[in-house]
Amino acid sequence: MSRKNINSYRKNVRIDGEADGDYVLYWMQINRRLHFNFALEYAVAYANKLQKPLVVLEGLACDYPWASARTSTFILQGMAEHVQKLGDAGTVTYLPYPEEQKGSYDKLVRDLCQRAAILISDEYPVFIMRERNERLEKELSIPFHTIDANGIIPMALSQKAPYSAFIFRQLMQKTFLECWEHPPLEHPLKGLGKHGDPGLSQEILEKRKTGMKRLSSDKEIEKFVSGLSGLKQDIGPIELKGTRAAGLKRLDDFTGNDLLGYDDDRNDPDKERTSRLSPWLHFGKVSAFEVVSKVFAMQPDGWDISDSRPARGKRSGFFRGHAAIESYLDELVTWREVGFHFAWHTPDYDQFDSLPDWARETLSDHADDPREHVYTYEELAGSQTHDPVWNAAQSQLRQEGRIHNYLRMLWGKKVLEWTPDPQTALSYLIDLNNEYAIDGRDPNSYSGIFWIFGRFDRAWGPERPIFGKIRYMSSDSARKKVKLDNYLKRYSGL
Ligand SMILES: Cc1cc2nc3c(=O)[nH]c(=O)nc-3n(C[C@H](O)[C@H](O)[C@H](O)COP(=O)(O)OP(=O)(O)OC[C@H]3O[C@@H](n4cnc5c(N)ncnc54)[C@H](O)[C@@H]3O)c2cc1C
Repeated sequence: MSRKNINSYRKNVRIDGEADGDYVLYWMQINRRLHFNFALEYAVAYANKLQKPLVVLEGLACDYPWASARTSTFILQGMAEHVQKLGDAGTVTYLPYPEEQKGSYDKLVRDLCQRAAILISDEYPVFIMRERNERLEKELSIPFHTIDANGIIPMALSQKAPYSAFIFRQLMQKTFLECWEHPPLEHPLKGLGKHGDPGLSQEILEKRKTGMKRLSSDKEIEKFVSGLSGLKQDIGPIELKGTRAAGLKRLDDFTGNDLLGYDDDRNDPDKERTSRLSPWLHFGKVSAFEVVSKVFAMQPDGWDISDSRPARGKRSGFFRGHAAIESYLDELVTWREVGFHFAWHTPDYDQFDSLPDWARETLSDHADDPREHVYTYEELAGSQTHDPVWNAAQSQLRQEGRIHNYLRMLWGKKVLEWTPDPQTALSYLIDLNNEYAIDGRDPNSYSGIFWIFGRFDRAWGPERPIFGKIRYMSSDSARKKVKLDNYLKRYSGL
């Protein structure tokens, strides 16, 4: 495939037509970065082609689902970093807008579209971005293109929803090299020509000024966020910072210190040797391309990715080189991206009915099985169960906005066991995950949560009460398998 072909899979022309207006409008909705970003690169190329100025809009609504002070602060910290980099840069007009009044962000998008030649934005398969894009596609009358800058393998390369990691891995192994050879530009804005002033209205310029002020310091961000009544204020900011700089630092720490021990230690919550990059991957602060590139740099001498050949969907044998690296890339590329591809092809990705038939059948066969423990949402959220391991995991989630992956699986399985029926379990898990987890509201939130109920998995025997043929996990066996002493000390009683 030629460069044009492989990267053309990233483009979704939602509304075609002549681009006739004052500026090119790029709306950064989820891949919130200025580097290695196919969507920004496309917007720059369009601005150069039309010889029109580029306006980059990045905002934050005050009333999105599961809105909290935690998520909003993280996003605004990232936007503040963009103000510092682009605030008064000559060639691009950066327009940051954290909304205070419900509806004013939406109005700003529509006002900007009135005089835009084209709207370019992020292709994203879940959450409000998917809904917004679908709504705008029906309402706008200017050209509207969305670009998939989410991962290495463009979502449009899969023909239908991959129902297992194995199926997706086969596609990944066949197409990885071609995608890898056509990466996004590191600095797309460097190529932007000078195309004059976009001539934004006074009202829009005022909004820009207000946005800049709200982002002018950590204190201003804190003040602004604490004044928003639509946010859950009790789910507060966390230690992690939502900047690209913080994400890159985490990436350096991981590749420098922990990557080569990843296969041995990834399931050990006491050791904490996973990358912990999911928050920055989720908000697009760091691109999967640059993570893979850093990881490849740690391969042994003589290793070369161009020697890779498809390994029939097997977990090892494609990336080769260091076993720890192969194991990490299976998570970062296969497991991360299967969730994007699945959701993209599955409009009801967040509904119980999107589970495979075998899983729905076995869960409904056991829906009326007696439950020894049944907890309310509030009891779960407050870590008030009989199980110290579960309570510790939920406390970590509540306090730090994350749970170690191994315990996250156990955490989800127990909610299935301790709620009146699988549908209630699903709805509690979606709310708990998306409300508290800083990496929540992601395609992988739905991969992980639905995996608890059988998505991307197979039937297991023997059949058990409540779970039926769904894979079972218990806290007792987790305690035998992994050391949790420090973990429990740290998070018990929070
Ligand atoms: C119930 C449940 C809910 C989950 N909710 C989320 C969520 O909201 N957001 C989220 O990003 N992930 C979610 N996951 C997947 C996984 O737990 C996290 O991606 C991982 O723990 C993030 O930690 P890390 O960055 O240290 O991962 P690493 O082990 O360092 O892996 C590197 C990257 O690979 C991807 N990855 C790793 N494991 C998985 C996996 N099992 N499935 C999909 N992608 C994976 C992530 O992008 C991760 O950052 C969930 C899993 C479960 C069981």
